[in-house]
Parts: sequence; C-alpha cells; structure tokens
Amino acid sequence: MASAIITGSARGIGAAIALRLAKDGFDIALNDISEKSFENNDIMERIKESGVKCEKYIADVSKADQVEAMVKSVKEDFGSIDVLVNNAGITRDGLLARMTEENYDLVISVNQKSVFNMMRYVVPVMMKQRSGRIINMSSVAGLHGNAGQFNYSASKAAIIGMTKSAAKELGSRGINVNAIAPGFISTPMTDALSDEQKKAIFDMIAMKRYGSVEEIAGVASFLAGKDSSYVTGQVIEISGGLSM
Ligand code: NAP
Repeated sequence: MASAIITGSARGIGAAIALRLAKDGFDIALNDISEKSFENNDIMERIKESGVKCEKYIADVSKADQVEAMVKSVKEDFGSIDVLVNNAGITRDGLLARMTEENYDLVISVNQKSVFNMMRYVVPVMMKQRSGRIINMSSVAGLHGNAGQFNYSASKAAIIGMTKSAAKELGSRGINVNAIAPGFISTPMTDALSDEQKKAIFDMIAMKRYGSVEEIAGVASFLAGKDSSYVTGQVIEISGGLSM
C-alpha cells in the first residue's frame, strides 16, 4: 500500500490532511515535535478507522539529525514513502523594528529549514522509487506579505522558491512538487490572533467566511492523487478569494 508522511500532524491542518489521505487509502506516518502533542488526542484511532496502517514519529523537523532518523524509520516501517506533506509551522508575530533575532531564526528554522531537511532525506527514497508527491505548506503571507509577519512571510515565500526549484529538478524523476497557500483557516494557530486582527482579515475575504481544515485537506488529496499527475511547481491559494 502507498504511504504518506505528514509533518506537524497531531492537530490542525496536518491532522485533517492525515485523516483525508487515510480515507484515500494511504498508510499514514504522523509526526509532531513531542509526545505531549498527541496527548488527549484520538487522531491515530480515527485514522485506523479507515483500515490503514498508522504510526507516529516524534521529531523536531527543524533538526536534520532527528529528520534523518525519522525518515529511516518510516522507510523501514512502511517500505516506501509515496507522499510527503511539509506542514509543520509556527508563528512568532511582531513588528519588524521590534523583532528579536531569536524569533526570526526560530521561525525560519521551523518553517523553512524543516522543508529542506525533510526533502533532503525523503527525495532520495522517492528517486529510487521513480515516483513521489511532495506538498509544501506555504501561506498567503508568503505570496503577498503581511504586516507583523516579516519572519513568517519570509519563510513561506522561501517555500515557494524551494517548491519550484525542486519541481524543475525532480520532474523527470516522476516526483511532483507543489505548494498550498492557505488564507485564514480556523485552527489553534489562528485562534491565537486578536479579535481586531481576525476582523481585518475577515473584511478582505470575498466569500465572507474563514476556511476549514477539511478544505485544505481536499486540495492536498488532489495533489497526492492520480488526478494531479501533470501538475507540478504550482502554488494553489485556498483563501476564499482573500487575494486575486
Ligand atoms: P497548528 O494548529 O499550530 O499546528 C501545527 C503543528 O505543527 C502543531 O501540532 C505543532 O506542534 C507542530 N510543530 C510545530 N513545530 C514543530 C516542529 N519543529 N517539528 C514538528 N512539528 C512541529 O497550525 P495549523 O494552523 O494547522 O498550520 C499548519 C500549517 O499551515 C503551518 O505550516 C502554517 O504556517 C500553515 N498555514 C496555516 C494557516 C491558518 O490559517 N491556520 C494559514 C496559512 C498557512 P505543537 O503545537 O505541539 O508544538
């Protein structure tokens, strides 16, 4: 059976993608930064209801040595790695003039370097298979910028460059690489925004509602499945018309 690894998948968008890919028939390798992320959480049981295999792997994806060990274990446990979803991400928002070097480096490391780390170790596996799908989680902030998110926007814009470069490099090897750029999706990450910030974003959304994690998972399912076999190097914005 084909398998998928989704980073940062204990909750939020990552968990919804894992559930959807399980419904699509993929065996699922979950990842998150700590065992605590999976506490009071029935994600593994819900995935197994689809009749697929599911294992969880604790690793900080910003750390190359932890990623190398995790990818080795996933390959041993599942036999192949057919889909990689680089979803793990954090925010440390603040105005540029007051942003600390620590918060700049942390966001670049977790959001951007993690994508390099994961692709660095998963791509050789996919190259041997001569097939694979990689889905990188960018953001509308990476496409258009966002005040108060200098570090986050930098990391998410870099992911677009990485996606296109890898798509050009790996297209002839049967590996498709695409990015998703969500707008405002209701998750613990966006719950942390102030009511004022939420209203400012809401006013810009053409569809006058926030997105759901399932609406991101549906597009991830398309990019992981056979109907997107001729789609690579693309960034799909899912934002209810926040920008166009
Ligand atoms: P979320 O609810 O905060 O979930 C992110 C998950 O990633 C958490 O389970 C978190 O674990 C995990 N994680 C954080 N650092 C990690 C690390 N170093 N290694 C492994 N796992 C790590 O966020 P979300 O809203 O679902 O967002 C998922 C992705 O979509 C992110 O890349 C985000 O930037 C992007 N995105 C989200 C929105 C939105 O509106 N929600 C919009 C645009 C883009 P812990 O919390 O346990 O540390």
